[in-house]
Amino acid sequence: MSLLITNATILTVDAEDRVIRDGAVYVREGRIAAVGPSAELEPRYAGAARVLDGTGKVVLPGFVSTHNHVGYTLFRGRAEDAGLGCVTGQYFPMATVASREERLAVGSLTYAELLKSGVTTTLEMEEEADVFAPFVESLGVRSFMGIMTYDVDVDAMAKDEFRYDAALRGAQFGQAVEFAQDWHGKAGGRIQVMMTPNMTISSSPELLRASREAADRMGLRTSIHLGWGEYEVEVMQRLRGQTSFEYARDMGMLAADTVCAHCYVVGDSDTDVLAASKASVAHCPLMNAVRGHIAPVVEYRSRGIPVSLGIDNMFADHFEVLRACVNVARIRTGSATVMQCPEVLRLATMAGAEALGMGMEIGSVEPGKRADLQMLDYRRFGLTPTLDPVQNLVYHAHSKDVEMVMVDGNILVEDFELKTAHASALIDDAGEAAEAAWERFVAKYGGILAR
Ligand SMILES: [Zn+2]
Repeated sequence: MSLLITNATILTVDAEDRVIRDGAVYVREGRIAAVGPSAELEPRYAGAARVLDGTGKVVLPGFVSTHNHVGYTLFRGRAEDAGLGCVTGQYFPMATVASREERLAVGSLTYAELLKSGVTTTLEMEEEADVFAPFVESLGVRSFMGIMTYDVDVDAMAKDEFRYDAALRGAQFGQAVEFAQDWHGKAGGRIQVMMTPNMTISSSPELLRASREAADRMGLRTSIHLGWGEYEVEVMQRLRGQTSFEYARDMGMLAADTVCAHCYVVGDSDTDVLAASKASVAHCPLMNAVRGHIAPVVEYRSRGIPVSLGIDNMFADHFEVLRACVNVARIRTGSATVMQCPEVLRLATMAGAEALGMGMEIGSVEPGKRADLQMLDYRRFGLTPTLDPVQNLVYHAHSKDVEMVMVDGNILVEDFELKTAHASALIDDAGEAAEAAWERFVAKYGGILAR
């Protein structure tokens, strides 16, 4: 199968951040075979099985979102105004209430929403994440996936008491390992399983050490939430007498293969620990801003700490993440010129690929890479004039402007429509599942926040 896109503007995100006007991309056997001026490529690849006219269109790499909980769309309309109390008061308790079927319904909707938003790769970590693997396979997206393990007594934690349970640990860890055995490298390599303990306060030393040992043994990457709240800092001092970053490092869960989600509550020594670890940060500026926090990513980048972008949960328009990345960096630094658009585009694509060890495979529009691409129609309200296609992308584009998305050269969104799933069925099923789960949540906890 071969495909040629002509007459488009190409945002390559290559080493020089080249933008090619009147450009073409030739895709063959799932990979990008050539990129260049239309006038050169059109005659050379006139025999392509399919030719798409890209006039007025912009082609760029698919977004790589390095922090996701797709099933947490369960909390859409529940957690946005709940503050950080939602972590112990909603997220963990819901894990004891929601069924696998409900989680699947809601998470499937989110995977589809993200795909429609140009996100071709996600790092999905969640309780029961294994339930999504068949849907990821059929939808056609690329996903790094991990069971978000914990061994803390959840109902005790909601009351600020911390007890760790060996039986729970065994069950959770066993599920995570089994998921890796069943799915790592499957779906044509599009599914990569990771070891992803949720966070430090919900993990005993035994769970974190076992996670590292399994990751090394099975060749899996790792991820964990770090630096997400003052409560986390206080609890870690109380339980371990050290910071979350020190604890994660000492347990082997802060290493070069680790994606650390958030990192917005950090002491100076934590930044040193992070820099020394070679781990990367999944910056989730949209969610963090809702929670009243801004990660110091300009400082991280000046210290050589790799930063990529994640949407986290509940939200579905990934372009809002790019805008939030600009806005919060400028508020935090007081500078209206930090975090320029080409840099943000790179964080949303190439930096995410590198954080997942995929820098040679995805993240830019360059010959030899896998054809994970999105194409936006710029001849729409909000995107004209196109004096600078990168600024238009970062400041003015939305999910609704994404016309075509492909992964491994397979077109999954075309003419603004999902090709590999039924949007209306996903919406109906997710709505029903969320209502059922919340009915049981309220019955068990007496309200929408467990205390
Ligand atoms: Zn998270």
